[in-house]
Amino acid sequence: MDIESQLVIYDCPKCEGAALLEEEGNSYYVTCMDCGCHSVNVNFKTDDERLDAARRTVELWNKGKVIKLEPGE
Ligand SMILES: [Zn+2]
Repeated sequence: MDIESQLVIYDCPKCEGAALLEEEGNSYYVTCMDCGCHSVNVNFKTDDERLDAARRTVELWNKGKVIKLEPGE
């Protein structure tokens, strides 16, 4: 199943760069390819929960709830 094609992911709320849905272990997050800020990881336990987890992190990203990487921290 192609999860990304089922979701609308806005451009980065910080710099309007291109956003990418990433899978890491058993979780999804959205990251900006330009400035590197990202949404929180949302975990899933089973394949059935995948789309739900992806949808939740994309929703947070689209609302602008992103974690900005501060240099030096
Ligand atoms: Zn950005």
